[in-house]
Amino acid sequence: MAPMLRLYNTLTREKTPFAPIDPGNVRVYACGPTVYDAAHIGNARPIIVFDLLFRLLRHLYGEAHVTYARNVTDVDDKINARAAERGITIRELTDGTLSVFHKDVRDLGVLMPEDVNVPGERPCFLEPRATDHIAEMITIIEGLVAAGHAYVAEDHVLFDVPSMPDYGSLSKRPLDEMEAGARVEVAPYKRSPLDFVLWKPSKPGEPSWPSPSGIAAPGRPGWHIECSAMSWKHLGKTFDIHAGGIDLIFPHHENEVAQSRCCFDTPVMANVWMHNGFLQVEGEKMSKSLGNFITIREVLNDWPGEVVRLAMLKTHYRQPIDWTVRGLEEASRTLDRWYEIVGDTLPARDVSAAVLEPLLDDLNTAAALAELHRLDDPASLKAGAGLLGLLGQTKSDRAQASVQAAGIDVAAVEGLIEGRRAARAAKDWAASDRARDALTAMGVAVKDSKDGTTTWSVIK
Ligand code: AMP
Ligand code: ZN
Repeated sequence: MAPMLRLYNTLTREKTPFAPIDPGNVRVYACGPTVYDAAHIGNARPIIVFDLLFRLLRHLYGEAHVTYARNVTDVDDKINARAAERGITIRELTDGTLSVFHKDVRDLGVLMPEDVNVPGERPCFLEPRATDHIAEMITIIEGLVAAGHAYVAEDHVLFDVPSMPDYGSLSKRPLDEMEAGARVEVAPYKRSPLDFVLWKPSKPGEPSWPSPSGIAAPGRPGWHIECSAMSWKHLGKTFDIHAGGIDLIFPHHENEVAQSRCCFDTPVMANVWMHNGFLQVEGEKMSKSLGNFITIREVLNDWPGEVVRLAMLKTHYRQPIDWTVRGLEEASRTLDRWYEIVGDTLPARDVSAAVLEPLLDDLNTAAALAELHRLDDPASLKAGAGLLGLLGQTKSDRAQASVQAAGIDVAAVEGLIEGRRAARAAKDWAASDRARDALTAMGVAVKDSKDGTTTWSVIK
């Protein structure tokens, strides 16, 4: 029996014990990035938070008993426009952006499919792409039309919201607020203003696919349908956990629920809905117009991925997070201290209960990190931090990486240190000072120990 995990569920607005449908295959879906441009640091939050959820579930239920699907949105208006601007196909554009995204998230210590999937076995981590699931989308759309939950109008297919009596059960918004929130374009072909697009005609030059039956003109999918299609294909009609940022509750997740439940005639799409809070930068909403828009890569140019990951996990995932340089500096100091403690030790076999328990309480990372601060046994610290995807290196490797990141020429450093040693032996203090100054200029600090050896480190 796995220890009891409790999760806050947006669907019930309660924190309740998590009971998987099938403990032999716990199934999680997270809405992933829209790959039209480099991902920003806000996008990194759900990626890191739900990576931690995935790690925790693997720890609790066993590595072979968790399936995680994190999709890639590789067709939408922004993607189409960007590809047209550059005169390339959407596949060419999104392949390029996706590979940058992969590098970004790998550097943040996020597990990747190739880290966890075992050849010949059911994959644990899937990264489905919307454009590879057009057939499944058409099947769902045609099913919805046949069941009277969707209708064809002017080459569009629309979901008929009033046909679903409990539409709105996830976001729990009153109808008039939903109408305003949907920012619906007034379209003559809509029967009700809340009805949303499942399929639409493609304009000339836009990517297009053969449309669902009843529409001759080629078209392209609406946004929400892709997640109903991909989660169904990879996780089934009903699955355990659906995750994403809080901004997705309405309309995206509400509409996913409507599509999946009405097509498959199920009481729920996913049993538990988890949403991460938003990230703002130095107290302000991040936006291109405010000039405080930061990409993941820009942050990684200045800070090691582990520092970024720790800075992100210090705040509970449902709280808003204020992204500050101070927070990064603090995280960096914490890691320095922890690496001093763990040195090059191997992790203990078991994660201590003190660290695990807060994580079982709706991923209370702030409390788990406070427990890590109390541990002084290197092996336990390494194991506990490992569950959070931290302290993945040895102290020596980390020192090596910081030397590389600072672009320091190790041979030159060692030459200067040797020159300084010789100067000191000859009592040539001026030469010894010059060597030290040259090292400082290179960003290197030297420390002489009582036993006569000299060590050096990168100045932060
Ligand atoms: P997008 O690429 O805009 O579809 O967003 C991908 C994921 O990032 C979604 O789960 C969003 O909810 C999430 N997200 C976007 N902006 C932020 C932010 N500022 N803070 C936290 N999560 C965000
Ligand atoms: Zn989605």
